[in-house]
Amino acid sequence: MDAPFHLPKEALMTMDYVKEVLDGSPRAAARLISWLEDEDERGHACMEQLYAHTGKAYVIGITGSPGAGKSTLTDKLTHALRRKGLTVGIVAVDPSSPFTGGALLGDRVRMSRLSTDPGVFIRSMATRGFLGGLAKATADVVKVLDASGKDVVVIETVGVGQDEVDIIGIADTTCLVLVPGLGDAIQSMKAGIMEIADVFVLNKADHAGADQLWAEVTFRIEQDASIKPGSWVRSVVKTVAVEDQGVVDLIVAIEQHRHWLEQTGKFQEQRRQRTRQETLRMIHNELFRRVRQHLTDSGALDQLVEEILNRQRDPYSIMRELLGNVFNQPVHL
Ligand code: GDP
Repeated sequence: MDAPFHLPKEALMTMDYVKEVLDGSPRAAARLISWLEDEDERGHACMEQLYAHTGKAYVIGITGSPGAGKSTLTDKLTHALRRKGLTVGIVAVDPSSPFTGGALLGDRVRMSRLSTDPGVFIRSMATRGFLGGLAKATADVVKVLDASGKDVVVIETVGVGQDEVDIIGIADTTCLVLVPGLGDAIQSMKAGIMEIADVFVLNKADHAGADQLWAEVTFRIEQDASIKPGSWVRSVVKTVAVEDQGVVDLIVAIEQHRHWLEQTGKFQEQRRQRTRQETLRMIHNELFRRVRQHLTDSGALDQLVEEILNRQRDPYSIMRELLGNVFNQPVHL
């Protein structure tokens, strides 16, 4: 039977991959991630079976301007988490940043040091070219790593533009990396990026201006805390990532935030809200994709456009009719 929303054939074909991902196979995880990025139906078929195994990993976001030291910090953080016996997945968004070859270089350094560790899985992602958008692609990778048994997933991404704000829709704890002397704090405050931080990381604390930056950020936190009583009082940590200094303090700050989330019930609340948004976004994307494909494949779109252009038809009634058709069809979920 032709059931457009049901994928039994693909589901059968992907059983082995599902099992291998659950067993922690990096090869199977990499294949699945590629399917998801390419919107290959096998990707969704796998996820249907894997979803029950997600939601266990703690997700940490590391964001900040290019060159702030995110890659270096992610490396050190990963090593420190490994020393605690935790397995780690890393999603490095934007290795092809046009601003700096630094991220690419950082990536290579990291590859050489961490790639031999079976307790670490690294996935780099360019910012363009994902059919379903970067936010979805990132969320998908996090889920795959989660299902593959990683205790912690670290998402590393630059802190400018819309995509990065999406990190708050995925990370349980978001760390904003600032560096002294670049006016970052002021810039970020203007752009509202300060709001996304649960933990401020003042990296390159070996540079001049670290104390001033500390004072600026602490002042801001105190101000916010007095305006919003009962909310998380954001913490500040000084690090010198290249020297591996302050990384343990960073882990403590992240653990405190996690503890606070769990104690106050915000953890569940946050995940509930995100699940709601994600579910709606997925339905929205898939519905739109199918309707667009139908209209273009059948050639109906060109004809409709002509009719609308000539004022023989109007887009409002077409939309109403189209949605009526969609919802009158039996939908097999
Ligand atoms: P990203 O673009 O934010 O990922 O930044 P990277 O991790 O690639 O770091 C950019 C540059 O800053 C590299 O040359 C790092 O070695 C250097 N760096 C990172 N952390 C520190 C630090 O704490 N102190 C100093 N002096 N340099 C650092």
